[in-house]
Amino acid sequence: MHPEFVQIEAKYTSKTEIYLRKEAYQSFVRMHKAAAEAGIQLTIISATRSFSYQKSIWENKWDRPKYMGWKKIDVAKDILKYSSMPGSSRHHWGTDIDLNSLDNAWFDSARGKKMYDWMCENAAKYGFKQVYTSKENGRQGYNEEKWHWSYMPIAAPMLDAYNKQIKSAEIADFKGSTLADSLQIIQKYVNGIE
Ligand SMILES: [Zn+2]
Repeated sequence: MHPEFVQIEAKYTSKTEIYLRKEAYQSFVRMHKAAAEAGIQLTIISATRSFSYQKSIWENKWDRPKYMGWKKIDVAKDILKYSSMPGSSRHHWGTDIDLNSLDNAWFDSARGKKMYDWMCENAAKYGFKQVYTSKENGRQGYNEEKWHWSYMPIAAPMLDAYNKQIKSAEIADFKGSTLADSLQIIQKYVNGIE
């Protein structure tokens, strides 16, 4: 319902009801058109996520049978390879999208590589950037995500505002939340970007 958000049209997404900030969406639409002209289909598979939605993602993983007998800290670290604690996800901001596949291996396929190479070459013209890049150069936090693109004209000031306003203790109200401080969620994960 927020006036700065808009629902993503069906032709751009595999989901039924997802939203982005208007400016990010308008820029995505231009990028989508340019990609289509180059024979590439960009499909949004995730966009804005609320705290409660992120909490359901996190807790569904937290409760997976494979973690039986694990130390809580190791469970959290394992989930944090690719998923954020609620309250610390860039998807809360309305500026970030996941495109085409949530599997890095897909981006090595012929279609995936063509799409990824096009994005690396062109996304910046539309304000989009891959923030979770290779960790070879010492970037901390989440593993590389070739699908996650951030609309930087809004996301960059959002990160500044986040850093000024949010404290570890406010990352709370979900399973494992008390680990946020010792895992340095804000320093290593929220700020662990390219
Ligand atoms: Zn994402």
